Amino acid sequence: MEQLTALGTGYAIATKCYTTCFTVSDGQEHFMIDCGGGNGVLTNLEKAGISLGQVHHIFLSHRHTDHVMGAVWMLRMIGHGIEKGVYKGNLHMYCHQELADGLLQMCQFMLPARLLSLFGERIIFHCLSDGLTFDILGRKTTFFDTRSKKTLQYGVKVELQNGKTITYLGDEPYREECAAYAAGVDYLMHEALCLESQEAIYHPHKIQHSTVKDAAECAEQLQVHSLILFHTEDKQLALRKHTYTAEAKQYFGGWVYVPDDFDVIVL
Ligand SMILES: [Zn+2]
Repeated sequence: MEQLTALGTGYAIATKCYTTCFTVSDGQEHFMIDCGGGNGVLTNLEKAGISLGQVHHIFLSHRHTDHVMGAVWMLRMIGHGIEKGVYKGNLHMYCHQELADGLLQMCQFMLPARLLSLFGERIIFHCLSDGLTFDILGRKTTFFDTRSKKTLQYGVKVELQNGKTITYLGDEPYREECAAYAAGVDYLMHEALCLESQEAIYHPHKIQHSTVKDAAECAEQLQVHSLILFHTEDKQLALRKHTYTAEAKQYFGGWVYVPDDFDVIVL
């Protein structure tokens, strides 16, 4: 059974939940989409019952702290696992060249040389270009430039083995250049910083983010089947699922998911 596991659903400075981190899996092998902003990725993998040995493919969308810093921890811990002989196979990292270069510099600064020697041997970087497709865990997986206004950013579309499709747009609003990857998909993962009524508090439009209403209108326009909202503020986390879902349903006729950390959505 294919599923999306939410490991981090909050925006960059969330403290009441983890920052952006998801996996697409069959319950055994997990394709990780962003790593969140720190070693909370290890905590949440453990709480979700996912071992490092179940993660051999990691995608990083862009170079911001809340998406990348967890990758340093993944590389450190998987590197240790390779050294000890307990991590089988290779780790594949997918990101654009500039991000790969920056991550390597951070690792050179922070990780021991013996772990760095695994790069290129057991830890393989795949540098992305617009429209590049890989077979990841038996699923056609296409990476695309999201036309981010802040920094070069990639999204990903996965064609699931059950025939459905899921598209992750990173942490900026949908741009029409991405229509080929987002229109009509079964699951659209779109950021939503806050409710429409909170626009004056969080100013999503000034920082290239969306309200729930914006994301829902986009999903309706793209005629997707289901909308998954994430990368949200965290001030009223207990109410988020209810309030965000209610607002989204005013503008979008399909299914709406507002996952909490550790929620699993059967795809
Ligand atoms: Zn972010």
